[in-house]
Amino acid sequence: MNYRHCDAAGKPLDLPVGKIVCVGRNYAAHAAELNNEVPSSPILFMKPATSLAALADPVRLPIGRGACHFETEIAVLVGERMCHASADEALAAVAGYGIGLDLTLRDVQNTLKEKGHPWERAKAFDGACPLSVFVSPESIADPAAIGVRMRVNDELRQDGNSSQMLFPIAELLAEISAWFSLGPGDVVLTGTPAGVGALQPGDRLCAELVGVLKCETRVFEGGD
Ligand code: ZN
Repeated sequence: MNYRHCDAAGKPLDLPVGKIVCVGRNYAAHAAELNNEVPSSPILFMKPATSLAALADPVRLPIGRGACHFETEIAVLVGERMCHASADEALAAVAGYGIGLDLTLRDVQNTLKEKGHPWERAKAFDGACPLSVFVSPESIADPAAIGVRMRVNDELRQDGNSSQMLFPIAELLAEISAWFSLGPGDVVLTGTPAGVGALQPGDRLCAELVGVLKCETRVFEGGD
């Protein structure tokens, strides 16, 4: 893996590559489309650093593991250590905003969920977390009103806004940091809006933080 966090110009940032903390069901409409209950506190899980890949590079679908869904999410890059941070402290520690795909082997995940098992087999595989470059916090007028979109083969499939989050970004970071430390180079994926679906080899993807960042890529099937 030779992934590095990069700035909007594609230049590597002076930050290590850390863990990825993900939030499940942070948009009510997505919880509903998968017939899940809306949680009363954020559902947290992690992906390892080995799951990172550059979104601009072709996205790899694992072979023979069933449906692989895209979940397009606002990604928050952590710049400073956070431990029991307040919402204000958490926002001040953000180094950048970007787009992440929380790739999910949906058939595998459904089997794991039925058994009450952890989700890592479905969500932590190599390449399971493609990330875009990161824009500076100054480029984001209001973290509570960021638009995020995904087009697959030119068709708009996801169109969300951080204003629809059940747990907004600042509160989310604070809550996570109350349970475990976030450090420089860690990334938080803030949950997906509705409209997730299975990727196919050859799909063309265009992910967007509306008015701020656009990233195009394509999909192929391959072994790891
Ligand atoms: Zn997700």
